[in-house]
Amino acid sequence: MQNIADILIKETFSREDIITLLRVEGDDKKLLFEKAHEVKQKYVQNKVYFRGLIEFSNICSKDCLYCGIRKSNPSVNRYNLSDVEILDAARFAFENKYASIVLQSGEMTGNFFSRRISNLLDQIMKLSNNTLRVTLSCGEQSADTYKEWFDHGASRYLLRIESSNRDLYYKLHPQDDKHSFETRIACLENIKTIGYQTGTGVMIGLPFQTMEDMADDLLWMKSIEIDMVGMGPYLEHADTPLFQFRHDLLPIGTRFDLTLKMIAILRIMMKNINIAASTALQSIDKLGREKAIKIGANIIMPNITPGQYRNDYKLYDNKPCTDENPEDCKSCLEIRIALADNDIAYGEWGDSIHHLQS
Ligand code: SAM
Repeated sequence: MQNIADILIKETFSREDIITLLRVEGDDKKLLFEKAHEVKQKYVQNKVYFRGLIEFSNICSKDCLYCGIRKSNPSVNRYNLSDVEILDAARFAFENKYASIVLQSGEMTGNFFSRRISNLLDQIMKLSNNTLRVTLSCGEQSADTYKEWFDHGASRYLLRIESSNRDLYYKLHPQDDKHSFETRIACLENIKTIGYQTGTGVMIGLPFQTMEDMADDLLWMKSIEIDMVGMGPYLEHADTPLFQFRHDLLPIGTRFDLTLKMIAILRIMMKNINIAASTALQSIDKLGREKAIKIGANIIMPNITPGQYRNDYKLYDNKPCTDENPEDCKSCLEIRIALADNDIAYGEWGDSIHHLQS
């Protein structure tokens, strides 16, 4: 086996290098995390940018086999926030100097939906004097819709590929036109061409997923020159088809650990991108996101969805903070990020440097 220090000084990592790094333990793991911390400090500083997350609807036309809000789950209490509720949440972010918000929902398409988002974008720009940066995470749309939303002020788009291995992708999704791997890739290409800061991500510790798949995910992100990444551990949801494979999964602690390693390796590979510390990390370890911040992540998405809806946006079991209001989340985060020796960059956009320099 190669010496870890020798791998860490390389300009580029091979697939084998990444697999070796994903397997490190003990002092070698410490070396990997120290290197990622160093790179983070040098290229994006010890700063954390907030993106106030508004999960504005759990209505979804898709049936992803892992997701708790999939169309065919009859036990979900479906909701759709009113425009006033969405704008109030955006105002909360603006007044509390979050500088950026994320509008996320299940997947809806059509003229009514696209016009509603455009109208909301107009109003968000107005209430913030054009200063709030908006990330959209509303799934697969036509190129025209992506362009329309960009023209109305959205500047970032997040669309996780979930897995860059086409065969694995189809084990996680129904095999039909609505869940096409090729369409998802084409959407990401359209998003990038239009000029969005483009974000993607994968789940880690999925059934059937190998270390080789994870290494390929990172190499794929680099090959498409992604600007932002959000990746997190796969977590089971009892009302989903993938739950049947729960006995074959890696232990939850291993999935957590692998996610931290993926973040650290990606930070070294793509030094100036934005990397989110996912909420799923927090549901395994109360300080999960802060641990990710220490070793490479620089984005946190505090949930600012009105508290009464949080319980209904359950992508996986034991989702954290479902019983808190936005104020609770803000104060608990401030203490935790200080513990991770990072500063919250209030009032700063924290645009992806990778995007600005491309
Ligand atoms: N509909 C949009 C889309 O398809 O991109 C955004 C909403 S979707 C619920 C947001 C993300 O939740 C997905 O990209 C997926 O990675 C994550 N997710 C869903 N179920 C999950 C699970 N069981 N464990 C971990 N993450 C999950």
